[in-house]
Amino acid sequence: MKSILFAPLALALSLTACGRADGEALDATAEPREATSVWRAQLTDGSDGRDWPAFGRTYGEQHYSPLDQVNADTVKRLGLAWSYDLPVGNPATGPIEIDGILYFASGYSIVHAIDVRSGKLLWQYDPKAPEASGHKLRQGWGSRGIAYWNGKVYTGTQDGRLIAIDAKSGKPVWTAQTMGKDDYRFISGPPRVFDGMVVIGNGGADEAAIRGYATAYDAETGAQKWRFYTVPGNPANGFEDKAMEMAAKTWFGEWWKHGGGGTVWNAITYDEESDTLLLGTGNGSPWNRKIRSAGKGDNLFLCSIVAVDAKTGAYKWHYQINPGESWDFNAAMDMQLADLTIDGKLRKVVMTAPKNGFFYVIDRTNGKLISAKPFVTTTWAKNIDLKTGRPVEIANVRYENGPVTFRPTPVGAHSWVPMAFSPQSGLTYIPAIDLEVTFDDSGITAKNWKRTGGMALDYGVRPDIRVPAGATVLSYLVAWNPVTQKEAWRIPTPGHFNSGVMATGGGLVFQGHPDSRFNAYDAKTGKTLWDFDARAPIVAPPISYWVDGTQYVTVIAGMGTSAGLFGPLMTKFGIDYRTQARRVLTFALDGKGTLPPKTPYTPTAPADPDFRPDAAAAKAGEGIFNQRCAVCHGGGAVAGGVAPDLRTSGVILSAETLTAILHDGMLVSNGMPQFEELSAKDRENIRHYMRTRADDLRNGRP
Ligand code: CA
Repeated sequence: MKSILFAPLALALSLTACGRADGEALDATAEPREATSVWRAQLTDGSDGRDWPAFGRTYGEQHYSPLDQVNADTVKRLGLAWSYDLPVGNPATGPIEIDGILYFASGYSIVHAIDVRSGKLLWQYDPKAPEASGHKLRQGWGSRGIAYWNGKVYTGTQDGRLIAIDAKSGKPVWTAQTMGKDDYRFISGPPRVFDGMVVIGNGGADEAAIRGYATAYDAETGAQKWRFYTVPGNPANGFEDKAMEMAAKTWFGEWWKHGGGGTVWNAITYDEESDTLLLGTGNGSPWNRKIRSAGKGDNLFLCSIVAVDAKTGAYKWHYQINPGESWDFNAAMDMQLADLTIDGKLRKVVMTAPKNGFFYVIDRTNGKLISAKPFVTTTWAKNIDLKTGRPVEIANVRYENGPVTFRPTPVGAHSWVPMAFSPQSGLTYIPAIDLEVTFDDSGITAKNWKRTGGMALDYGVRPDIRVPAGATVLSYLVAWNPVTQKEAWRIPTPGHFNSGVMATGGGLVFQGHPDSRFNAYDAKTGKTLWDFDARAPIVAPPISYWVDGTQYVTVIAGMGTSAGLFGPLMTKFGIDYRTQARRVLTFALDGKGTLPPKTPYTPTAPADPDFRPDAAAAKAGEGIFNQRCAVCHGGGAVAGGVAPDLRTSGVILSAETLTAILHDGMLVSNGMPQFEELSAKDRENIRHYMRTRADDLRNGRP
């Protein structure tokens, strides 16, 4: 399973000697303290970068390492120190590093500890999440990241457990169940720790009647400290706090029956200075406000940054990015803290590049908007009014008078993969996405809409997401100046999705790509300074840290999460669920490791001589497929590498095998959910749709 490609000890020694001889001493701020464990201080923004102890390295989530041994001059010597092969499963996950040990969760939250010096596995802990998940397995893709505090590693699981694991032994210390066992929530984002507490939210508002919240637990014991709801519940039951009472004034109809949404599925940032936790909330449930809230109201705190007292969870302030959210726009993309000089004044800000395409700079002491400008083509609003903080929306943007087309889309101008802010260059590096969408809810009314049920995608509106006419580039790495709200540079990136970014004190920006390239760019100009063939697609954010006088860079390669949804846009990269490599890649100067060649892949459908086209069955099957299967197996049954491409699967030739999988849950432990409520006819229709798409593949039809 594992390959050590190179002797790390010898490397470390030679690097130390070499570094000194070359006069490449670290500057004062990056001088590592080697003697004692300094993990706690490492979480503070501005710490020296010895460790990468949290998802975004520090509380402020900048995804920035001040280390500069690897820099514009030396990066050409950057090579593979070691690699570690991972089994089939989601690898799109952010690692952390503390005191020479790399921790990460791959697949369904299988936590690994690896000795950085040797590249050897120290322990592995499998919480058996698929088996525990039930219906919760139907959406989501496993871990995106983990957290660390005082000798414990924290992981969330698909089934909603928050588990503290002893960092030395790999044994669980405590487990908290963060949601109802049988509701339709699931854990989607990395837990965050701050000052002895660990906080976690969840996802689910795209597919069920879910009310969002985040919960804080004692990091030592797992005892619940507080829970903050992001949208109000049924007023008849009373409100949990004043914030919910206030929020309820912005909701109409019987919103609580639809859950409301506003899940904290990804972004959580801690402001140490003011002991404030910032929660980024998601879309409404369902997306269509006509159904959700009688077509009116701001619907607090959907699509908002909500600041709460970190000790108590009490509301402090909020900024709502999209009042009356209706398009799966989210404020759940990462939020980064920085102190910026704007108009001659030092401002304490939080910055975010949410799905809606505007880059927001907000005063984090009071939630007042400072500035907002679009970082990609953005046509749903003319601008953001700085006086009111509200968007100036285009006519009919809520599709109240027929279909409306605009950019960006529910995929987001920026998704969950983190951007990076470099205090050195003063620039934010955004993995941006440029697609177009038409929204249409004709025929759907608040009265006639009924949820599909059983945790299926159902928005109360039809979004048609596509490539803008004439567009050849669908994503960019955008370097953005948050002070001037102007672009410094941009480079086209391959594919429609975009991958996690890290900036460093060496004047570099690291990013991987679906075409298997792992690059370092000049932070000032975007010029490619280093280009590594990772022989596997990369989605995950890279990290960097310091062990024994050596700066390491680690990234986990392999396709995962929602990046595979638009399979047809991924086919040119030849990424297959079964054959792609999934690998921890760790780099250092003068690393000499090599990788085995990439397995070439061309999708091939099995022979199906009994196939007889039946358009009605295929259409019925497609409807079910899009709501329940496409999220992993890809739109049009063209998979992007996150799950098997069913056009190529022998399973579709056998009704019995498909029944064993869908009805009986034969592959649950692999992460394939059970859909026991589907009738024999439903299953046969899905099978016919997949056979139709296999027939298209055999005959060269798109
Ligand atoms: Ca969503």
